[in-house]
Amino acid sequence: MSRVAILSLHTSPLVLPGRGDAGGMNVYVRELSSALAQTGVDATVFVRRHSDAPTIVDVEPGFRVVHVAAGPPDMAKESLPAVVGDFADGVEGWIRDSPVDVLHANYWLSGLAGHRLKHDLDLPLVSTFHTLARVKATTGDPEPRRRMDAEAEVIACSDVITANSVTEVQQLADLYGADPRRIDVVAPGVDGALFSVGSRQGARAALGLAGAPVLLFVGRIQPLKGLDMVVETLAGLGRRYGDAQLLVVGAASGPEGEREYRRFTDAVRSRRLQGRVTLVPPQPHHLLSTYYRAADVCLVPSRSESFGLVALEAAACGVPVVAADVGGLRTLVDHGRSGFRVPDREPARYVEAVLAILDDPALAASMARRGAEMARRYSWTATAARLRRIFTDLSARVPLDCTV
Ligand code: UDP
Repeated sequence: MSRVAILSLHTSPLVLPGRGDAGGMNVYVRELSSALAQTGVDATVFVRRHSDAPTIVDVEPGFRVVHVAAGPPDMAKESLPAVVGDFADGVEGWIRDSPVDVLHANYWLSGLAGHRLKHDLDLPLVSTFHTLARVKATTGDPEPRRRMDAEAEVIACSDVITANSVTEVQQLADLYGADPRRIDVVAPGVDGALFSVGSRQGARAALGLAGAPVLLFVGRIQPLKGLDMVVETLAGLGRRYGDAQLLVVGAASGPEGEREYRRFTDAVRSRRLQGRVTLVPPQPHHLLSTYYRAADVCLVPSRSESFGLVALEAAACGVPVVAADVGGLRTLVDHGRSGFRVPDREPARYVEAVLAILDDPALAASMARRGAEMARRYSWTATAARLRRIFTDLSARVPLDCTV
């Protein structure tokens, strides 16, 4: 098993994460492809052409991105289902010329393309969803019916479905009736060379921050990420930490993004926090460690989260994490040891958790140490090794066929 076609229809591993449709999946596809290439698996990532980038971008030996024409470059994500067929046609032509051994589809749109391609080319299909519509629906973030149906279709015919966490295994089984024998937990990783413990003082000096406590939020601004909870947490810290600062690194994302951004700025204004909140535009992944290292606490109050790379990166940088008790965050935050998990959406609980850390430097230091230890268990090399094993196992099996 040495050649994989990685389908990433709607977003490119070459794009800066933190705004629009670019986030954890972009980091995942880029880091995974790179790590696969380094283990000798030839990785071609197929992306819908969304810019005037060259058709083939060689990222490193054994890892390239191929841009496939399917609809006009600037299509809204909501319109992309209409061009899945064109995308699959383009990928199929490519694979017929340069065969692969396995398809790895990321997100439901690529899943639909992958499902068609697996039948047309008689190849095994590995699917990774990153987020699931039925999970989002349970937390008040509804998705179109066609997405749920598409996910169910792809889940029913994937040879292997990779889940980011054990919580996702349960969700796939409970909400989609997925066969547990075809689900494998493949945890994403973190690049330890970029994200590691460093000097808080140095990081703060680099960012021009004074000595006051710093809360950090990193990610796309959309309702699911719960930025409102972060603002309420800062407001709730009270006089004792009346000088605490909040850094928000990211930008609006998705159809609700602009409205959510306005809600955020309105909340900052109505809480009279203007001088204490700094919005930082999306940063290249390799520059983020400075923001993490500068922080006393990283907040991840998502309504749902299939994994939560930000929580892992913060932990790797030795920053205690206060996160919602959902999805992959349940695995990534060791409650009371590397941070706190908050079981409900009550701002007072977030305030309580942040105060516990700010008030107790010894606890903060031990959480920092334990978080960094925990993060060392995750690497993209391990993610790639696990997937490589799955690809190899599949090469010895007849691909599943939902049509018989
Ligand atoms: N990210 C980044 N620059 C930014 C904001 C975010 O590189 O300005 C990256 C961040 O480091 C993380 C990813 O985007 O790796 C977000 O992943 P996460 O799983 O936290 O959330 P998702 O975007 O998948 O919902």
